[in-house]
Amino acid sequence: MALLQISEPGQSPQPHQRKHAVGIDLGTTNSLVATVRSGSADILPDEQGRNLLPSVVHYEAEGVSCVGYEAAEHNSSDPLNTLTSIKRLMGRGLDDIKRLGNSLPYDFAADEGGMPKIKTAHGPVSPIQVSAEILRKLAGRAELAFEGMLDGAVITVPAYFDEAQRQATKDAATLAGIKVLRLLNEPTAAAIAYGLDAEENEDTSAQRLIAVYDLGGGTFDISILRLSKGVFEVLATGGDSALGGDDLDHAIANWLCSELGMTHDLDPVEQRVLLETAKCAKEELTETDKVELDILDAKLVLTKDQLHELVDGLIDQTLSACKRAIRDAGVKVNLIEEVVLVGGSTRMPRVAQKVAELFGRQPKCSLDPDLVVAMGAAKQAEVLIGNKSADDMLLLDVIPLSLGIETMGGLTEKLIHRNTTIPVAKAQEFTTFKDGQTAMSIHVVQGDRELVSDCRSLARFELRGIPPMVAGSAKIQVSYQVDADGLLNVSARELSSGVESSIEVKPSYGLTDNEITQMLQDSFSHARDDMRLRALREQQVEADRMLEDLRAAIDKDGESLLDTTELKCLEVALDELQVLRESCDDHRQLANQIESIGKSSEDFAARRMDVSIKQALAGLSLDEALDK
Ligand code: ADP
Ligand code: MG
Repeated sequence: MALLQISEPGQSPQPHQRKHAVGIDLGTTNSLVATVRSGSADILPDEQGRNLLPSVVHYEAEGVSCVGYEAAEHNSSDPLNTLTSIKRLMGRGLDDIKRLGNSLPYDFAADEGGMPKIKTAHGPVSPIQVSAEILRKLAGRAELAFEGMLDGAVITVPAYFDEAQRQATKDAATLAGIKVLRLLNEPTAAAIAYGLDAEENEDTSAQRLIAVYDLGGGTFDISILRLSKGVFEVLATGGDSALGGDDLDHAIANWLCSELGMTHDLDPVEQRVLLETAKCAKEELTETDKVELDILDAKLVLTKDQLHELVDGLIDQTLSACKRAIRDAGVKVNLIEEVVLVGGSTRMPRVAQKVAELFGRQPKCSLDPDLVVAMGAAKQAEVLIGNKSADDMLLLDVIPLSLGIETMGGLTEKLIHRNTTIPVAKAQEFTTFKDGQTAMSIHVVQGDRELVSDCRSLARFELRGIPPMVAGSAKIQVSYQVDADGLLNVSARELSSGVESSIEVKPSYGLTDNEITQMLQDSFSHARDDMRLRALREQQVEADRMLEDLRAAIDKDGESLLDTTELKCLEVALDELQVLRESCDDHRQLANQIESIGKSSEDFAARRMDVSIKQALAGLSLDEALDK
């Protein structure tokens, strides 16, 4: 549009084309989305101003009925169709799920050799689909705030997530139509949010050690970071992907159960009522010394001391994991300068107290522990999308579990050890076992145990076409390459002949490309509606801008630069645009009107330009004008 090109010297109407990037904390209990505005990371709230989005999806026969707070309200009345803590199931097989015990009230559809699906009124749904619903909702918040499309997102994952869990998270984003700029470890994001690099002291050779303690609703993570010359390096990570505030709730619920003399198997509704009461009691005890509970026609009292008795064991488990991580990092606890608290459960004074005792210093908690991860992810997204120079931040991450290969006897040979910084590439030579062997089967595994049967199987592939040789003389180089998201590519090459084979590791519990395509197709009609809405919103913004700019230009120069007919025509066209803007839901019609006004006002724009140039040059000599 021609008129927009007029602006005051040194002030362009669009200073630079910013891209819309967000950080997403896809939490077990709560999820959030944040973006960087005017240099600081802001959480993007929902229309009611709430920051968190409970990671809850409710299904009814027709499909998803609601996501977030609304969905959480169905918790007690319709537990089997109200899916919570789904992150625990991401990238997991049925066996893993059985190990999680009976904390999950859902029924699972029969395993068809792939990903387990949860039975709902709508039919079986996979954890990836459920997570995609949550991501879609967050992306919606962002697009509303940006009044435009989202260009990309950094999504955080627990440092402990293995390949399959990371891949599942990426698949969920793909399904939600979100471009993943990077998967980022949650504790690393928290350290970025605190801007600890900016606090670095003058002495640039100095190193600082930072511990990030993250106790959320469903997971516990401890990370030991080293900060030197503005670069974060994760020295070690540890934790437990099945330990969090939910487990504290369970401990309290069990206590309630025995106090109430409930010995029968609880039905799902009773379970939810007990857990909800437990959670409220726990959170209240953050502020007070005792709570009175009205539950199932009984009155009970829970004191802070009793609470401590119930949860100390679990908190101590997190402390043991901290000690292991400190040992893995090869550092002494007294050299750790900062301890950062992350996750809603660190609000519990008991947790903060025990962490302070272990590390011998007061932990940092000035930012809201619920928000820090999303804020850090937003800062990273800002750099990755290109709005900010990448020199501003370098960031290294580590492999959470060792990556290895199966060798003779079902043993694991580790190629990349846990806590190695990524991206990384490692190669190792192997040889044939039999005379004349022409093929070799490569089995990629992840885990830190010696036996393959104790590790997670990631992929198998074959290298064929090895020239027949005496056993032990072929040289087969196997290379593992891990990209910045922690995703693995494996290749094998016979060095004398050059035959090669490679595989991008698709863990067994992710989605196959076909499944993703199918699901995307399924959601296509939905996506088309979304795209139409998006296009309409963009044209509405454009229309508002045109109306405002042109009306201001008419006020200022209309009478002097336009004749009466021209002025009338333009005003009528603008009124029509105003009506269309309010009432029309066809983005193309709106776009046509914008374009036609743009064309018919070009002359007006040119005249205004002439006038402003003349004014700028008025009174200057020719030489001065040329210098300008
Ligand atoms: P996640 O990262 O797993 O999504 P969050 O960081 O959002 O989890 O933390 C959620 C957990 O924090 C829940 O178990 C909740 O009960 C707990 N929580 C929130 N506020 C408090 C509080 N004041 N006292 C104790 N626990 C709390
Ligand atoms: Mg969290």
